[in-house]
Amino acid sequence: MNEVGAPAGSANRKSGLRAARRLCDAAGVIHRLEFRRYRLAFRLPLRTAHGPWGEREGVLVRLTSAAGVAGYGEAAPIPWFGTETVDEVEAACRDLGEHVPDDRLDAVPAELGCLRNALAAARAPVAPPPADPSPLGVAALLPAGRAAPGVAATKGEAGFRVFKWKVGVATVADELGLLDDVCAALPPGAKLRLDANGAWDRRQAERWLERCAERPIEFLEQPIAPDAPGASDLLLGLAADYPTPLALDESLVGEKDLERWLGAGWPGVYVVKPALWGDVAAGLQRLAQARAAVVFSSALETAVGAQAALRAAWAWTGPRRALGFGVWPMFVDSRCDGPHAGPFLRREDIERINPEDVWNALS
Ligand code: MG
Repeated sequence: MNEVGAPAGSANRKSGLRAARRLCDAAGVIHRLEFRRYRLAFRLPLRTAHGPWGEREGVLVRLTSAAGVAGYGEAAPIPWFGTETVDEVEAACRDLGEHVPDDRLDAVPAELGCLRNALAAARAPVAPPPADPSPLGVAALLPAGRAAPGVAATKGEAGFRVFKWKVGVATVADELGLLDDVCAALPPGAKLRLDANGAWDRRQAERWLERCAERPIEFLEQPIAPDAPGASDLLLGLAADYPTPLALDESLVGEKDLERWLGAGWPGVYVVKPALWGDVAAGLQRLAQARAAVVFSSALETAVGAQAALRAAWAWTGPRRALGFGVWPMFVDSRCDGPHAGPFLRREDIERINPEDVWNALS
């Protein structure tokens, strides 16, 4: 764990303040920047296409204004999604130094999207007004494979009405053989999301999409890997050929890919992991203008990043879909978790998160 901006001696502080004042004259408001790099073990390692993922690394930032108001943000990159690395975030924080004027924060490059996201959240510690303060539904996560129907039944009894099942882990035949058991275990009127995490080729995706029609499938997420040959055309073709909506997740890395998919007239769902977007507000404005279908999703960040991400979800003015935030409890150190996942999240639960508690837990 690393930190800059630890309390300095009085002489240092005075010269730092003098330097800060000089910078302030030249470049507007000066913030004091501190950061803490963290490494947090997951309670259960995640199975991903890149192998097991056992611990989350990221960086918390704290910006304190001249008036003494502190704001917090989190850079939680996922490099195999195409973001920067945690080392790059840490190096950039060191380069920024302890006293940072506004224009230097503005000049953090777009390639450091997760750091830009963290700094933006830390500069604006007050929540934007909600488009609608009512609770938002949460999608229940189902385990891959044969355990899914049993967990679906239990979560249905707990009140969940949207479910997400990870597929693409076993063979298509094995998983299709389970699909009807999973659907039968859902409560009446429930919807099932399928997430293949890019595991299939065209033929495998078609076999699934043929089966999805006339079943309560809300959407099929990322059937084809973003780096598969001709992936974009393949996804657009599948979206046109079958009635079940498709969703982009790994194909939508921050706002880098957004204009391309909007330009192509993507007819399906956009899965937005706000933590991976450098300028969440601008990206969401573009999606709202396009009347796009948006699902907000966790990047497995701590409660600090989750608070910022979920504030964006409450500020969203388009149709509301269940949140992909059914992830907590997630960390061995539960002090870093967000509110435990029930069928709904209330805005008060999100505003009750105190980023300072997570910051202190990581000291
Ligand atoms: Mg996904």
